[in-house]
Amino acid sequence: MRLILLGPPGAGKGTQAVRLVAAHGIVQLSTGDMLRAAVASETEVGLRVKDVLAHGELVSDELICSIISDRIDQADCAKGFILDGFPRTIAQADALGELLEKKGQRLDAVVQLKVDEGILLERIETRARESAEIRSDDNAESLNKRLAVYNEQTAPLIKYYSERNILMSVDGMKSVDEVASKIDTILSTV
Ligand code: ADP
Repeated sequence: MRLILLGPPGAGKGTQAVRLVAAHGIVQLSTGDMLRAAVASETEVGLRVKDVLAHGELVSDELICSIISDRIDQADCAKGFILDGFPRTIAQADALGELLEKKGQRLDAVVQLKVDEGILLERIETRARESAEIRSDDNAESLNKRLAVYNEQTAPLIKYYSERNILMSVDGMKSVDEVASKIDTILSTV
């Protein structure tokens, strides 16, 4: 199964992805996690994207697409994957479509987590306080930037995938278990 989880920062994509991984034996490809790992280990890519991440801006479409393309080719993705944090722009969605076609693969579903923006800020602030991981972008300024970038660049993907009849929407304001069971119901139909 090949899925995209779509939704703003704090919508619960990561939480749901972890559950889906356990339930379906597929891997989670979180571009945010991959980039943070690159920053932490000071790879060439990491050094290049460090400031971009800290400011809540997007790294280039070209860079992120090449990271994803290479990652999908690895053996553990053979049974499928969940894209979490990618694609984030129309250009990335186009590039993903092309690269999957070249690899002879197709997406099964795009699951949109719908959330209330006011509550998102609270959720992310709580996550920032409670998490052991210190994220350079979990401060008020970068948070607002990430939400603005989402609304400008990523939200248009809802229409994009809806026009391709592949979008499924779930109310992301429900409890983690309720959201998970809605997603399972949806996935049983694809
Ligand atoms: P969030 O919790 O805000 O959804 P992520 O953990 O998914 O954030 O990503 C953190 C940061 O990594 C983003 O703000 C951006 O700088 C970078 N990033 C992640 N995925 C992408 C992508 N697909 N395209 C460009 N930049 C990305």
